[in-house]
Amino acid sequence: MNYFSSNFKLGILGGGQLGKMLLAETRKFDIQTYVLDPSKEAPSQFGANHFFIGDLMDFDTVYDFGKKVDLLTIEIENVNLDALDKLEAEGLKVFPSPKTLRLIQNKGNQKDFYVANNIPTSPHERFENIQNLKSKIVNQQSKIQLPCVWKAARFGYDGNGVKILKQAHDLEILPDVECLIEELVPFKNELAVIVARSASGEVNTYPVVEMEFHPEANQVEYVICPARIDEKVAQKATEVALKVSENFNHVGLLAVEMFQTHDDEILVNEVAPRPHNSGHYSIEASYTSQFENHLRAILNLPLGNTESKVAGIMVNLVGAEGYSGNVIYKNIEKIMAIDGVTPHIYGKRETRPFRKMGHVTIVNEDMNEARRIAEEVKNTIRVISENK
Ligand code: ADP
Repeated sequence: MNYFSSNFKLGILGGGQLGKMLLAETRKFDIQTYVLDPSKEAPSQFGANHFFIGDLMDFDTVYDFGKKVDLLTIEIENVNLDALDKLEAEGLKVFPSPKTLRLIQNKGNQKDFYVANNIPTSPHERFENIQNLKSKIVNQQSKIQLPCVWKAARFGYDGNGVKILKQAHDLEILPDVECLIEELVPFKNELAVIVARSASGEVNTYPVVEMEFHPEANQVEYVICPARIDEKVAQKATEVALKVSENFNHVGLLAVEMFQTHDDEILVNEVAPRPHNSGHYSIEASYTSQFENHLRAILNLPLGNTESKVAGIMVNLVGAEGYSGNVIYKNIEKIMAIDGVTPHIYGKRETRPFRKMGHVTIVNEDMNEARRIAEEVKNTIRVISENK
């Protein structure tokens, strides 16, 4: 198949902001794109050649969509895997493969996989439902003590489906779903490494990035590349990410989220087999953006250089508290007057408190200057609505 023949058809399951940014890269190669998303207002609707509305968890919808394309990828993990199995069995290339997705979709399976492959991760225990969890905790039969972290096994995102349990009483508000608990890691840093792996096995890693948290709100404020950590720790994080990538044997990107403990151990938190929030900085700061490299990897083309040209910092633009409705990006013109500042607006019409509406990248030769500007950006732009 000639990818550059103007009639090569790439299908993308999911039409959110990750899909939108991936679509921008397909224009470079003149690839025909097909996108499936449940929402008629999905950010990807205008960037795709063909946009379809449908349920990503429905077998027939996903299967019929897959039949229209030459290669299928995803921008969200929660898709119907039985349909992908059938499409793959019928000869369609699906990257990441349904096998990889099956291991990742369920956080319990993911943790078991790390244990089975000797990948460092915090100890965990799985439960079919909330009753099982409650009785073990109440009878002190669990090997994991409170305080610990509770996670829904499926459908969590952006911290949704994750709760810190401090006392038995905290279990009362948890939903009745398959879940797991993990030992609480008192980490020094949250780090991430994005690994690109092509179908032929070429592998390349992006530099280690660091998430800087708001000291009180406990929300990630900045993604910083390169991470301001010891070279040895960066090397260790990269090695762990490469081992995870090797074990999954995925095709495309794999974003590996990790904790750096106080004694500089690296523990894997979770992975995402696709472009990731922690790699958005790469659009402006890297020789090759994560989106271009995802395409190169799944098309089995040579991977692009993952190194950075300059320091890059990303600030998420989330809806301000107290505002819902038609969105306004207040003071956007002020931040755009600053050198090296690029906003990305995802195209979601309505803002809600904490909804991811866009991001801003700050690039600079000097990391300290980039960090100073990032704070200025954060304090200047506000995502609000026309009416309160
Ligand atoms: P999501 O898939 O929703 O992003 P994560 O599993 O990444 O959920 O968890 C969200 C956040 O919760 C992490 O970024 C981290 O700050 C915190 N967290 C998750 N697991 C642990 C843990 N075992 N110990 C301490 N903090 C954790």
